[in-house]
Amino acid sequence: MPKTVLITGASRGIGRACALGFAARGMNVVINYNKSEAEAKSLRAEIEAAYGNVRALTVKADVSDAGEVSAMFEVITAEFGGADILVNNAGISISGLFTDITDAERDRVFGVNVYGAFNCTRAALPYMIHEKYGRIINISSMWGVSGASCEVHYSASKAALIGFTRALSKELAPSGITVNAVAPGVIDTDMNARLDGDAMRALCEETPVGRLGAPRDVAAAVLFLSSDEAGFITGQTVTVDGGFLM
Ligand code: NAP
Repeated sequence: MPKTVLITGASRGIGRACALGFAARGMNVVINYNKSEAEAKSLRAEIEAAYGNVRALTVKADVSDAGEVSAMFEVITAEFGGADILVNNAGISISGLFTDITDAERDRVFGVNVYGAFNCTRAALPYMIHEKYGRIINISSMWGVSGASCEVHYSASKAALIGFTRALSKELAPSGITVNAVAPGVIDTDMNARLDGDAMRALCEETPVGRLGAPRDVAAAVLFLSSDEAGFITGQTVTVDGGFLM
């Protein structure tokens, strides 16, 4: 029986690369999206065309909304029984001086980045616990490890995911479920589109390997942590940053 993976925020960027990587390994892939319906459907078509044996499903849900997440899991349960692997990837960033960020912006960042992961994990667990098997990977950020000026709320939300990962891994280890985080460096996706050429060049120069990360660089770590071979690794945060934080 092929395993089923849910990737939140799989319509674009890192989530999309993860979906393609899992499909290449023959897994059923659930592509969650919020706004980018056309991109999600085109990804499903691409997966179905490339891998005839793979079942792909698109499900719209704002992960910050527990009701929408619950409805998404009803669809997943009906289609596949449940999700064996959960990648909490959906995220948004916000930049600006700490004192300029409004309460509503703060709540949105934590709602998507932190409570989105809480909502999806809570909904995924009954099936994983029943199966005595599960892999949960939370997409944090190197800024969650080191902190970034003018991205205090984003950094704090990503640090929260690392604490979540560590604590939950202890609670779930006896149930055969591992929980790990991946902390990407600067990855070439829409999330960084707001940065101008000079800022991107500076970040590239600060990255010892001398290039920006690609979504597939992050997907490679996610795929490994999701594998059966990674069953003795839990509670860890793997940085995929080209050496930025060394
Ligand atoms: P991206 O290209 O902007 O893609 C973000 C994805 O998240 C989209 O598929 C988007 O879906 C989804 N999303 C946003 N809000 C959502 C919500 N409320 N519910 C469901 N899905 C939602 O960003 P990315 O660079 O791939 O980022 C993916 C993850 O990596 C994020 O958690 C981000 O913080 C983290 N990360 C990125 C970098 C980087 O340099 N790019 C570095 C470190 C960490 P829709 O378009 O359908 O709404």
